[in-house]
Amino acid sequence: MVRGHAKEQAQQRNAKKQSESKQGISQIEARQAGLKVVCPLCKAPATGSKALQLHYESKHPKETPPI
Ligand SMILES: [Zn+2]
Repeated sequence: MVRGHAKEQAQQRNAKKQSESKQGISQIEARQAGLKVVCPLCKAPATGSKALQLHYESKHPKETPPI
């Protein structure tokens, strides 16, 4: 039973490692998709600098986009 228990622990450790690396990949993917842009005026998320410029034109036409 000791061997089986050790195997279980190793599987749990591997699962944790895999979920951690998955999070890392998803963060990189989010950065590549440009999802980190947020409107500094109303905190609305934008999918990129172009989307933020369009957001400024429609929502804050009197303000200048920070890009
Ligand atoms: Zn805004």
